[in-house]
Amino acid sequence: MKILVVNAGSSSLKYQLIDSETEKAIAKGGCERIGIAGSLLKHKTAKGEVVIEKAMPDHTVAVSLVLETLVHPEHGVIASMDEIGAVGHRVVHGAEEFDSSVVITDEIMEKIIANSDLAPLHQPANVIGINACKAVMPNAPMVAVFDTAFHAKMPDYAFMYALPYEDYKELKVRRYGFHGTSHKYVSEEAAKFMGNPNAKIITCHLGNGSSITAVNAGVSVDTSMGFTPLEGVPMGTRSGDVDPAVIEYLANKKGMDVAGVLSYLNKKSGVAGISGVSSDFRDLAAAADEGNYRAKLALDTFCYKVRKYVGAYAAAMNGVDCIVFTAGIGENTVSVRKDIMAGLTYLGATIDEAKNALKNDGTIHDISGADSKVKVLVIPTNEELVIARETYALVK
Ligand code: AMP
Repeated sequence: MKILVVNAGSSSLKYQLIDSETEKAIAKGGCERIGIAGSLLKHKTAKGEVVIEKAMPDHTVAVSLVLETLVHPEHGVIASMDEIGAVGHRVVHGAEEFDSSVVITDEIMEKIIANSDLAPLHQPANVIGINACKAVMPNAPMVAVFDTAFHAKMPDYAFMYALPYEDYKELKVRRYGFHGTSHKYVSEEAAKFMGNPNAKIITCHLGNGSSITAVNAGVSVDTSMGFTPLEGVPMGTRSGDVDPAVIEYLANKKGMDVAGVLSYLNKKSGVAGISGVSSDFRDLAAAADEGNYRAKLALDTFCYKVRKYVGAYAAAMNGVDCIVFTAGIGENTVSVRKDIMAGLTYLGATIDEAKNALKNDGTIHDISGADSKVKVLVIPTNEELVIARETYALVK
């Protein structure tokens, strides 16, 4: 069956058409600047990439254009829309209701909309994406795959904040975690690689957004992002953990309201804020190499905090069998992996420098040192494949 995987943002819509049998993407691409002047569609197949510039006033027009392109006589990969057996949607927040993927019915849709309160920046865009696909493909079954679902089995003591219990019960203030599809995929790949479904695995998803997860025997038992993706390690522009008292202090000193401080913590902080150079690790590495102190400080702070989470999660699981690096930085930035791992030898975890320096070729790399008691793996993530697998499993 061919599955269309859709990841809708407020002004973008990324897609992949995946064959459930071969598990390969037949086509992938994205619409950019939806609802803004200059909208365009980038579409990539085995035949190459095309860029189509066309006005896309809303997501429904964008979905129609994606489908037209998929069946296009020249750029297309399928003869008719009917070949698409189902659509899998990335949905950010499943709250406590969803610990796995679900077929989207009217009732499920209401719950997804109701949970928008918990992810006001992202969930409304996901809802728009689902509605746009429904409008254009009314007969295709739709599945929601939640970013939070993999973390839904975290133990209560790991997901609780030490706030009054009533506010957890009534207002749902707790830790949820995100990047679940990625942590799920790479931890399953690592368990397969090791031939050990009960392995204690720490997965480091290090990208523009970063999170670390402790996976014990296939279950996420703790993760660094919390109520929102702001908690945890520093990221491209997000601060990660800060003392909440900083919010009032900054509001007073800089004349910002709460929303202003939250925007500052989400968009102006992280490695971009420390360095003043960039949120992109390639730029930071280049600047640090040229002697830029703040770029080096940003990299050092990032690696230090990731290392602290790895140590914490080894404690959370009373041991670790495998550490996984994934996503843009985890898969590609040799120096970051080296720096993080340099402080983990007390766990018996070492890396082989030559293997660590190998270029990312899209396959799993075992970079463990010969004497390492812990497997250290680089595993390219594939969130779209997880969405396609879960969608197929529910609709077949
Ligand atoms: P992601 O959010 O997973 O796309 O990761 C983006 C981050 O990965 C950026 O900070 C990039 O600088 C970093 N990165 C480092 N090397 C590469 C590379 N070769 N390709 C893509 N991203 C890279």
